[in-house]
Amino acid sequence: MLELATPNAGDLLREVADLKAQSLRFGTALENLVQGVCFFDGEQRLILSNRRYWEIYNLPPDRLGPGVTLHEVILARIAVGSFPAEEEQPYLAWRVALADQSKPHDSVVELRDGRVIAIHHRPMPDRGWVSTHEDITERRRAEDRIVHLASHDPLTGLGNRALFQARLVEVRAACARAARSWAVLYVDLDDFKAANDTLGHAQGDAVLQLVAERLRRLVRRGDSVARLGGDEFGVLAPDVNGEAEAAQLSGRIVAGLAEPFALGGRSVCIGACVGAALARPDHDASPEQLLRWADMALYQAKADGRSTYRVFRPELETAWRARQDLEHELRAALDRGEFELHYQPLIALPGGEIGGVEALLRWNHPTRGIVPPAEFLPLAEETGLILPIGEWVLRSACRQGAAWSRVRMAVNLSPLQLQAPGLVPLVEAVLAETGLEPGRLELEITETALLRPLAGIVGALDRLRGIGVRVVIDDFGTGYSSLAYLQNLPCDKLKIDRSFVCALGDASVAPDRTGAIVQAIVSLCRAIGVEVNAEGVETAAQEERLRLEGCGEMQGFRFGRPMPASAMSAVLRGEAEPA
Ligand code: C2E
Ligand code: CA
Ligand code: CA
Repeated sequence: MLELATPNAGDLLREVADLKAQSLRFGTALENLVQGVCFFDGEQRLILSNRRYWEIYNLPPDRLGPGVTLHEVILARIAVGSFPAEEEQPYLAWRVALADQSKPHDSVVELRDGRVIAIHHRPMPDRGWVSTHEDITERRRAEDRIVHLASHDPLTGLGNRALFQARLVEVRAACARAARSWAVLYVDLDDFKAANDTLGHAQGDAVLQLVAERLRRLVRRGDSVARLGGDEFGVLAPDVNGEAEAAQLSGRIVAGLAEPFALGGRSVCIGACVGAALARPDHDASPEQLLRWADMALYQAKADGRSTYRVFRPELETAWRARQDLEHELRAALDRGEFELHYQPLIALPGGEIGGVEALLRWNHPTRGIVPPAEFLPLAEETGLILPIGEWVLRSACRQGAAWSRVRMAVNLSPLQLQAPGLVPLVEAVLAETGLEPGRLELEITETALLRPLAGIVGALDRLRGIGVRVVIDDFGTGYSSLAYLQNLPCDKLKIDRSFVCALGDASVAPDRTGAIVQAIVSLCRAIGVEVNAEGVETAAQEERLRLEGCGEMQGFRFGRPMPASAMSAVLRGEAEPA
């Protein structure tokens, strides 16, 4: 027996040793888990737990050893406040009932101190269970941050476009259930780009934050505000009773944003336009439709001027469509060769010979006939199409100027072209390509272009003058800061705007105020060595008066209307009189 028992005892000892080692490994593993773990038996009594479990629930580990009931554990947790932010008794009942379930169960609870714990409950065959507890507060916060980032604009803290659209769907459904009308508004800042350029990007960001803050205050409680991108914002107003109320809300936003903003000791005016669309319970407009309406209303508001609002009405759709069509056709016009340049003579005084011509753009529209620039240039400017169109104008005019060997060629530059970084190299390349002498090219820039920051533009103009190109200020007198340019801007000539010339000799403008202004401009220019042109001369009396004042150059219907190149060629060859 003994002989037989000996190997058994050895086996047993080895087994015990193995078990001990295994238990040690198990214990070490358990103590080092990041999760809290506890085992309960079929009587809901604790068999085993690890330190992490007690830590998570702020429980003293020595107080609750093996044998305590789940009920006692939960009571101890309630005593130290480590339980969810609900009533104690219902929680206790829920937790104990959960232990009775024979199915695995996962839950996430938020403790009263704000920590979030994920609990996995796994039943065992003897009706006991093992549960693991993990503090996922940090992970949850990170997830919340990601969700917030994905739906909010980090600069202003407002909801972003995605959130706006999701909210719009919600508001639409809620208002349909309540049979209530509501509104969606687009808010577009008037002068943000100019402010951003002048003040720099950091200050531009600060302006957007101030706008967001003010917008929040301008809307009512329950309305939501979002930043849809750049300088465009959106408002959802879930309770707007009819068009008049939509107009009232829009008007309040326009007026509120027209007030200046205080930014680092200075006051900045931005202003905004608002387009609103009203959703009525009796007209089930889709979200896309409402956004399109708001967009159309905004487009109309912007077309009507700064700090304006419009509430969508069906008529607006017609204007909007016309513009869409025009934009579409304008995009194709360049490729289809529908643009043409006409040329108007610039008359040198006192001799009266043609010293130059101004190139003026015409669009030969296949069905509308000749479209004047005033009808399509604003759209070209807004859409950026002016850049390729302007390049075509410059190249065509310079080519024509080179062919007309003697006269100067004046070309109009739009504000956008003037700001484009590639302007100087473009002019250089076109001059080289066409062979036009730089001294025969005059680039006309308008005051509106100069309302923008001067620094970059002055640099470009300096470089252009450096290569011999002449710079001309167009429409002088129509902007706000004319005299300031004369001080800062490198230029060779200025053109007195037609509105002054037109009023010359007009007896109703007494006592000859216009005459005095023109006189002052001419003598000022003489004093600072800048040439003067008078535009829009139509009558002999105007010509006479300008000659008297010593104006150096005239232009107007009196000397010739803008004409096609072929007609201008004949005039320059002396074969025809200007029309
Ligand atoms: P602008 O540069 O001031 O051009 C003079 C405008 O006055 C021309 O109008 C011309 O036809 C008109 N005009 C000339 N003499 C008289 C006159 O005696 N009486 C009257 N009532 N009008 C006269 P247009 O061609 O319709 O051009 C309008 C404006 O469009 C131009 O004003 C210019 O700012 C812009 N523009 C024209 N072509 C171009 C271009 O190629 N590029 C850019 N960026 N702008 C252009
Ligand atoms: Ca001009
Ligand atoms: Ca002009």
